Amino acid sequence: MAVLHLDNYDVTIGELEQAQAEWLRARKFAGLVVLMDDNTRRDCWPLLEPLLAEMSPQLIVVRPGEQHKTLETCQYIWQQLFDMGAGRNWCLINLGGGVLGDMGGFCAATYKRGMSFVQVPTTLLSQVDASVGGKLGIDFYGVKNSIGVFHDPIAVWADARFFGTLPARELRSGFAEIIKHALIADAGQWQELLQLEDLSSVDWANWVARSVAVKQAIVQADPHEKGLRKALNFGHTVGHAVESYFLQTDTPLLHGEAIAVGMVCEAWLSVQQQTLSPAEYADIRALLMRVYGHQPVPLQAWPELLATMRQDKKNEDTGINFSLLPSIGAVSVNEICTPEAILASIGMIKG
Ligand code: NAD
Repeated sequence: MAVLHLDNYDVTIGELEQAQAEWLRARKFAGLVVLMDDNTRRDCWPLLEPLLAEMSPQLIVVRPGEQHKTLETCQYIWQQLFDMGAGRNWCLINLGGGVLGDMGGFCAATYKRGMSFVQVPTTLLSQVDASVGGKLGIDFYGVKNSIGVFHDPIAVWADARFFGTLPARELRSGFAEIIKHALIADAGQWQELLQLEDLSSVDWANWVARSVAVKQAIVQADPHEKGLRKALNFGHTVGHAVESYFLQTDTPLLHGEAIAVGMVCEAWLSVQQQTLSPAEYADIRALLMRVYGHQPVPLQAWPELLATMRQDKKNEDTGINFSLLPSIGAVSVNEICTPEAILASIGMIKG
């Protein structure tokens, strides 16, 4: 069991145990509600239910998926809370992936001006990324995460046993964030990643704990995304554009699959504009290709990718903004790349 102490809450990584239920009971909430989606009710609730049974929690179940990360679903959640008579002195437990955690946290943070909530992330992505940093919200007007708040949970409980039922593609997608965290801040973990045979033999609790520690350190230094937190953006400038492009096709990519493409491109840019060595780039490319395969990006997509990157909210006046690697385990933010260089990097993975 690893416990990481953040300013306002602890992240506990390890098998859920009675001590966590005791801790919750000691907080003497007037009521307890567990929010889940159809999948996590079926696959994850059986692990959590025995711990909470004595506190007789009430349940809210919503439909799974990004398409339901909406104001309509929030209204349903808020209405359910009202119908249960929930007050500000109640606690909401969000049992699910990043969609459920972002949306459930947002509903809790705004319900009657804020009730307490616990995040129980059940996907790899949500354990290493979404559960730390306090960013909550929903998609609105066709724009992802455009309505939301920064608000901390009272605790995060990450149990790797949940990955047992997670679709393999979702697990692989979340793994991209572990790779990213190692590349920007943990050269030792990167060396371990290079030895990886396949994802079925990973000691997840250990790797999740190390990865969360990287995000924790960066978030603590810049809680409201004023600057340093841009370090987490490595792979994401190109990655988001690739994700947006494929979303409009019949073969959408999961977030981590697109970020893997972005990391290959941005590692290449790091060789051109930083001091990353060609040998380090070759290792990064080889690992990403081994885990994610070759993802061709068709020639006709290139102008659109550039246009999407130009609209990125992290840009400043001077051009398209990147976080690049001076070496493995280090990151430099606010690096500007020319359209020609970006196109050349995409050319490295062209279809
Ligand atoms: P997700 O929440 O959509 O979950 C993926 C799918 O797996 C869903 O169908 C879900 O029902 C199912 N599922 C979840 N856990 C399961 C389990 N243990 N067993 C079986 N099925 C399970 O996807 P995600 O990748 O976890 O999260 C993506 C979301 O996270 C996006 O909306 C993104 O914006 C958000 N996000 C937020 C932050 C942040 O800082 N707040 C960071 C990264 C991503």
